[in-house]
Amino acid sequence: MQYEAGSYDVIVIGAGHAGSEAGLAAARVGAKTLMITINLDMVAFMPCNPSVGGPAKGIVVREIDALGGEMGRNIDKTHIQMRMLNTAKGPAVRALRAQADKFLYQQEMKKTIEDQENLTLIQGMVEELIVENDVCTGVITKTGAVYRAKTVVITTGTYLRGEIILGELKYSSGPNNQQPSIRLSEHLEQLGFDLVRFKTGTPPRVNSSSIDYSKTEIQPGDEVPRAFSYETTKFITDQLPCWLTYTNEGTHQLIDENLHRSPMYSGMIKGTGPRYCPSIEDKVVRFNDKPRHQIFLEPEGRNTKEVYVQGLSTSLPEDVQVKILQTIPGLEKAEMMRAGYAIEYDAIVPTQLWPTLETKKIKNLYTAGQINGTSGYEEAAGQGLMAGINAGLNAMGKEELILSRSDAYIGVLIDDLVTKGTNEPYRLLTSRAEYRLLLRHDNADLRLTEIGFNIGMIKEERYNRFLMKKKRLKWKRND
Ligand SMILES: Cc1cc2nc3c(=O)[nH]c(=O)nc-3n(C[C@H](O)[C@H](O)[C@H](O)COP(=O)(O)OP(=O)(O)OC[C@H]3O[C@@H](n4cnc5c(N)ncnc54)[C@H](O)[C@@H]3O)c2cc1C
Repeated sequence: MQYEAGSYDVIVIGAGHAGSEAGLAAARVGAKTLMITINLDMVAFMPCNPSVGGPAKGIVVREIDALGGEMGRNIDKTHIQMRMLNTAKGPAVRALRAQADKFLYQQEMKKTIEDQENLTLIQGMVEELIVENDVCTGVITKTGAVYRAKTVVITTGTYLRGEIILGELKYSSGPNNQQPSIRLSEHLEQLGFDLVRFKTGTPPRVNSSSIDYSKTEIQPGDEVPRAFSYETTKFITDQLPCWLTYTNEGTHQLIDENLHRSPMYSGMIKGTGPRYCPSIEDKVVRFNDKPRHQIFLEPEGRNTKEVYVQGLSTSLPEDVQVKILQTIPGLEKAEMMRAGYAIEYDAIVPTQLWPTLETKKIKNLYTAGQINGTSGYEEAAGQGLMAGINAGLNAMGKEELILSRSDAYIGVLIDDLVTKGTNEPYRLLTSRAEYRLLLRHDNADLRLTEIGFNIGMIKEERYNRFLMKKKRLKWKRND
């Protein structure tokens, strides 16, 4: 039974990294916005690495912040460790990377969304779009709620017809055993969108108490306080270290012996995986001359013992994962709390989008994040921000915003997607940006804050502080 549930300027489907930015941005440019997501306890959830930033990605976070988005502020409030990478090199290749307290990160983002003026956040599963004469005018949920809107943004990540693969086991699921989004994917196909099947994977998590850290190398955060956001004034000084260990010949031999049970090699996995985040079984096969691979042990938060085993992404069977862990120095007695797994999902072919992220086929419908064939929280957040801004501006009859390749890494990302498409999960790399010497992390505000102010994303007070900074830089240059 369907019922009329409300009317908005913008509806955002999903509250992951793309959805959170999209909802906040649409509301901040002044549009009355509704966010609908499958599970309210999973807002801005990190299903993989509990970290934000790194080369290229860290610059995207600064750009999001310079335009008035949230990711930078949120990680500044919730990290357990922050490091500037490549400090021995010039500013063009430097990038910040933060280890997140992933639970706090979610809570803080949810609170920001709840507190945002013009924005409503609800739980629900969207199953269909309302499309009239090739124009999207709303959504219908599984429970029959009909929401009308001037524009709609889809940010459904890895949920579309998601299937988890773990050894010989394959079942229908979103990430982390969440409900998958099946009907919406079928509906997009019925509407005539071309979909592709991609895959990604995650490593096991182990209990910190079972790790022998004396056999690993400590990786502390920077002593100098650092922040992603130009607005952050309070710095977290109490940082937690990460730890480094390595695989060895014993690990590689065990993987070799069990390749016949690997869904990657048995043909069970059909989707294309991210080339730059290979699984450990893939690394052992492709780089078999390498005697060892780095494994970083990263705490998932301050109030948990779960440790993320970075570098050991795998879909090998659970019993093999336990044995692999036992071959690694420091992890001989590791208690595996969650097994690694791979997930296959549908994505839309991104050349079906305009540079505003509106679909060419259906007017007033936008897509952002992993649904557009990308991989990574920052790539998702950057697109979410732009789709949210444009859905909001469009709904209010204003001119939309397109960033060029020389404006920002976000411009490079979107331009690559909509003009070239991608045949594997797309990850942003510095080498993709021909203007990389100009697109630095330390000049993101000079490149973008004016734009953010002009569309209403940046408040007057922040803008005035930015103008003062610009003035001071000019005086310095004239010294
Ligand atoms: C197992 C796994 C491993 C990964 N490994 C890596 C990695 O190694 N490196 C890397 O960079 N990235 C990795 N990623 C990718 C990273 O998690 C994503 O790129 C990022 O989360 C994408 O953000 P998003 O907002 O597009 O989607 P998500 O964060 O997945 O959010 C999707 C949102 O949409 C909602 N939703 C879905 N369908 C509906 C519906 N029908 N109605 C309402 N709401 C809906 C969900 O509830 C959720 O809130 C991995 C992801 C997974 C799942």
